[in-house]
Amino acid sequence: MTSPLPPGSTIGILGGGQLGRMSALAAARLGYRCHVYAPEAESPGMQVAAAATIAPYEDEAALARFAAAVDVVTFEFENVPAGTLAALAPLAPCRPGVEVLRVCQDRLAEKAFLERAGVPVAPWRAVEDEAGLATALQEIGLPAVLKTTRLGYDGRGQSVIRHPDEAAAAFARLEPKPLILEAFVPFVAEVSAIAARGGDGASTVYDAVENRHRDHILDLSFAPARLPVADAARGHALRVADALGLVGVLALELFVLPDGRLLGNEIAPRPHNSGHWTMDGCAASQFEQHVRAVAGLPLATATRHHDVVMKNLVGPDGLARWPSLLRQPDVVPHWYGKAEARPGRKLGHANKLLPIGSLSTLDDDAALQGL
Ligand code: AMP
Repeated sequence: MTSPLPPGSTIGILGGGQLGRMSALAAARLGYRCHVYAPEAESPGMQVAAAATIAPYEDEAALARFAAAVDVVTFEFENVPAGTLAALAPLAPCRPGVEVLRVCQDRLAEKAFLERAGVPVAPWRAVEDEAGLATALQEIGLPAVLKTTRLGYDGRGQSVIRHPDEAAAAFARLEPKPLILEAFVPFVAEVSAIAARGGDGASTVYDAVENRHRDHILDLSFAPARLPVADAARGHALRVADALGLVGVLALELFVLPDGRLLGNEIAPRPHNSGHWTMDGCAASQFEQHVRAVAGLPLATATRHHDVVMKNLVGPDGLARWPSLLRQPDVVPHWYGKAEARPGRKLGHANKLLPIGSLSTLDDDAALQGL
């Protein structure tokens, strides 16, 4: 059992993006300071943090100074080098720990972990070389998806192989090696669930949501998911949090098959874009739960008080939508303070609030009106 950090303590956050920014805002409400560590000078997280370190993740002297200045360390994206967390671990409590990061940074380790935790996944094979890819394609069949095992996000670092002729080019293009080949999943929906777990092993889980993507980037989350498998998705998220011994929050992304079965896709061991609806749909957001867990506080309720449709504001279209969103009385807008509105960048999001229980009665047009 971790003793709770008193108000006034400092939470160190590795990563300067919007997830750290929204965590820092939630931490401030609970009386904590945040110290953001990131290589980029101008970052959304640093704008709202009490202190900042701008240094590479490999800078051991800067990491040691950071560790000395904070009471606990967390991270806001899982591509922080595992070596960074390993260097910090002897100097400050790291929550979640480096083992969680190692599992979630590597799709091979992640898939094996999901299977061990009892979450079914699509058939997969590790691919080291072209001969290995040929064997894997024979075993898994077509179509299949070839992915990098590390550093992939928002659909980057993957290729769908529909014909054997496409295999060599896909293998050559995807870096770094090794790769993973997964069976193509003919999903009818994508869902995710956010679970929180404290150092005392207590856990809670939000309602599962249905996610829709545009150009491989999350576009919309419908909270709650209007699917019979929603509770099973929540159960899987809790199971994964327990199996990881997580202290913090995680998102589990799952595919829904035509027959209603669920297959696990990815674990994000941090607040997640598909949990942004909790900021306005619940008394305590995913960011507050994350702060509570890493600070050793009791978790809050994850009960939903409104149905929510979350719309991501992606550049440059998101910038154009902003003025009209501000005029909608039932829409809560969030802006991340990024320096540029480049295409494909997440600039903010908007949560449209609906009376609890009403989302399932609306068609998409009605649910999305005003967003
Ligand atoms: P990922 O980076 O693994 O989250 O994949 C990004 C998106 O690609 C997912 O949200 C799916 O829409 C699609 N995708 C990933 N893996 C598969 C798969 N095995 N079968 C079908 N679609 C996939």
